[in-house]
Amino acid sequence: MGASNPFKVSVTRLSKAPGSLLAVEVEGEIPEMFVSSAWVAEGTKVRAKGQLEAVHSGILFSGTAMVEVTTECRRCLSQSALPLQVEMRELFESDYKEEEGDTYPINGDYVDLTEMLRDAVVLALPVAPLCSPECKGLCQVCGANLNEADCGHSGGGEIDPRFRILDQLR
Ligand SMILES: [Zn+2]
Ligand SMILES: [Zn+2]
Repeated sequence: MGASNPFKVSVTRLSKAPGSLLAVEVEGEIPEMFVSSAWVAEGTKVRAKGQLEAVHSGILFSGTAMVEVTTECRRCLSQSALPLQVEMRELFESDYKEEEGDTYPINGDYVDLTEMLRDAVVLALPVAPLCSPECKGLCQVCGANLNEADCGHSGGGEIDPRFRILDQLR
């Protein structure tokens, strides 16, 4: 990301005195956020709202990320939009060490919220979404969506146990 990165926040106005606060409200795209059955569609904006606070060990971000996620039902494969809201409380440090992994760097006079937001959103993506808890899935014989139509194949028959295992794996 270049100079137009909306998640790069200048912290020059944030005094080094612990307790000093800076309100933050930013919005922009973060590419390539996905798990197997949920993703943030290209062009979808992530909004982050919260505050940066000077603390002894660095700068603490507390706030919320909001983004619309696309989910794919693991039984019937239909897609739906899910508004996702994630609470965050993360530390940015000047003497950041990548190996320690649970904080983010302060880059001179700014912090870049991108990686923090990416981590929080990806972690919150649903791993096995269902369009509804009662989703009937797809017919194992003809592929029809059984929520929309009764193709006649499901009448009383047992689901082949191999498909049950597949359903659990998805
Ligand atoms: Zn479904
Ligand atoms: Zn069928």
